[in-house]
Amino acid sequence: MNQVSDRLAALSPSETLAMSQKSQELKAQGIDVINLSLGEPDFNTPDHIKAAAQKAIDDNFSFYSPVPGYMPLRKAIVEKLKKENGLDFEPTQIVCSNGAKQAVCNTVMCLINKGDEVIIPAPYWVSYVEMVKLAEGTNVIIEAGLSQNFKITPDQLEKAITPKTKLLILCSPSNPTGSVYSKSELKGLADVLAKHPNVYVLADEIYEHINYIGKHESIAQFPEIKDRVIIVNGVSKGYAMTGWRLGWIAAPEWIAKACNKLQGQYTSGCCSIAQKAAEAAYLGDQSCVEKMRQAFERRRDLVVKMASEIPGFKVNKPDGAFYVFPECKSYYGKKTPKGDTIKNAADLAMYLLVDGHVACVGGAAFGAPECIRMSYATSEENLIEAFKRIKDALAVLK
Ligand code: PMP
Ligand code: GLU
Repeated sequence: MNQVSDRLAALSPSETLAMSQKSQELKAQGIDVINLSLGEPDFNTPDHIKAAAQKAIDDNFSFYSPVPGYMPLRKAIVEKLKKENGLDFEPTQIVCSNGAKQAVCNTVMCLINKGDEVIIPAPYWVSYVEMVKLAEGTNVIIEAGLSQNFKITPDQLEKAITPKTKLLILCSPSNPTGSVYSKSELKGLADVLAKHPNVYVLADEIYEHINYIGKHESIAQFPEIKDRVIIVNGVSKGYAMTGWRLGWIAAPEWIAKACNKLQGQYTSGCCSIAQKAAEAAYLGDQSCVEKMRQAFERRRDLVVKMASEIPGFKVNKPDGAFYVFPECKSYYGKKTPKGDTIKNAADLAMYLLVDGHVACVGGAAFGAPECIRMSYATSEENLIEAFKRIKDALAVLK
């Protein structure tokens, strides 16, 4: 008999991981599936970073590390924040975790009491709302559709804030839309937040380095709210290190201390070897980051062109990250050659996977049921074939 806790029973599984798993199952049956479901760079980790990890093994970095991370890594992160973002932090304000995912979860767990409201602009990354549910907080969703380039306005934020609001989770560049907030757009939001001293901001900047419109802007740059901003970042996306599991927060010291306490009871310090690799990533040559960014930009241009040519798709032009998030609702209600009706984005994603052999993720899990997410973190050759398959599969829907 299943006696799982109520807390777990209420939790939805990660749709991004689920679609990727389904695509792998089909692949294992010998079906040639192109996987556009999972958001992870297809590049190998750069050689100098791998060499640092090999050296760390030889140098016996095999013992428990300090819970918030080795001091040299935290100093490297502080230096990165100064150099790239113009932000001042102390190493005591940095906590390294098992990926940015744990960094987000730590922050939510440390800040949210039962019933606290967490404002999340939709479309959002799948895990935010589930983490808030785990913390027994209340998700307050602000809708930001394609017509506003998937970005919320200061006015929308102001209207969503109540005396119970504790946190805003802002992701820029965004997963799943690729939208990037400009400095003036962030200033508009910061001006609203400045009037509400009990509201904190979790700024998820994991796609910082995958930006096609220039310099990354952080909402932490506005002094009037800096002591209420928790930056989440890590090496997964920018340095092609998803499997190493190394993310971090830069936060007010009391929040860093709380995350340190939580992590100390929960998972301890993250992998010692990954920490030494991340240190090399931040201190080493940054040309690998730019090379990957340029490849993503070429793919973005290609994918936007191909997606725009698909009848019935409404496509945004993403300014960052590696996702395109077309509106696809014109296909809802149509019938597949097998006679099934496409009722929603999940059905469409399943049809494209099973009949078209391309894995995507339906938008409902991102709070945008009219859209579908496609990751373009794969080769141009794969992308061209994937969009041919998608176009052909959609063309036979009646
Ligand atoms: N935030 C966003 C917006 C993401 O897309 C991801 C990717 N999974 C994460 C956080 C978590 O990153 P990590 O792989 O470092 O845990
Ligand atoms: N963030 C990636 C994605 O959205 C990885 C999967 C996950 O961690 O959910 O696809």
